[in-house]
Amino acid sequence: MVGKTRAAPSTMPARPPSQPWRSSSRAPAALALMLLAGCGGGHGTGPASPSTSTPPPGGVALVTLDGITGRPVAAASLPYGLPGASLELAAPGYLVRRTFVPTDGRIFLWPLTVDEAYVRRIVYETWSFSGVQRLYRWARTALTITPGVPDASIAAIVSTGTVALTASSTAADIEVRVDPNDPDLVGPLGFTRCTTTGYAIDHCTVVLRDSGVLQSTVATHELGHCLGLGHSARPQDLMNPSARAAELTSDERVLLTMMYGRRRPGNTPPDDDQSLGHTATTRRTLMVRD
Ligand SMILES: [Zn+2]
Repeated sequence: MVGKTRAAPSTMPARPPSQPWRSSSRAPAALALMLLAGCGGGHGTGPASPSTSTPPPGGVALVTLDGITGRPVAAASLPYGLPGASLELAAPGYLVRRTFVPTDGRIFLWPLTVDEAYVRRIVYETWSFSGVQRLYRWARTALTITPGVPDASIAAIVSTGTVALTASSTAADIEVRVDPNDPDLVGPLGFTRCTTTGYAIDHCTVVLRDSGVLQSTVATHELGHCLGLGHSARPQDLMNPSARAAELTSDERVLLTMMYGRRRPGNTPPDDDQSLGHTATTRRTLMVRD
């Protein structure tokens, strides 16, 4: 199930590990860890010997944690890394993580509740451009939405703990309207269109064909798109485009929790922020139908 993390979107939570490294409650896993050459300062020299009990000069102890539970992921050694150095981490049951060594050495891994293809499809593929897949999401988590959206739809989204939705009749972040005459409405139900700056969602519009659709689980599904989720192939998922479940499954909640609590906009599949950059300001319009 989803943890209780309510992290700010751009700063990862500084939650202390609940257990010391070597007393993980999870099943031992063969953790493969590789520190590559340093980036930026060119100071990456890889980890110290696992048998070393103190970090090398400038180094920090690496602590690998489950991104949902916050529990340590078992490892056979306690390596060190130099902040800013490239890091690739692979552990059974988690997405391969490519990032840079953080100053606190804490690496949160994305648990694979289904498989990598599941994450890739729902998180990255729907919004991809020119073959470049990115994680798109809001950079903030307090959003406004047009009044009149069914309470059940609002509750289903808010219950994930990733965003807050407040009704606002003026310039809502998420505008929801019924308009059978909208020229972009070609499917039987509706569509979601979002504008982005860089990889952050700025605004979304949901257009539905009639009030019956608004009162159905389709509205909840479209709100899932507004948070950056694509389509799922699994019939039990809310984000399946035809099954119309009423609630997000626990697997979908893990996706949203990782997207909003542990990762920044622009992450690439399977779980890589090394190419994120700091100046992505391109404005785009993203659209998904039904
Ligand atoms: Zn859809």
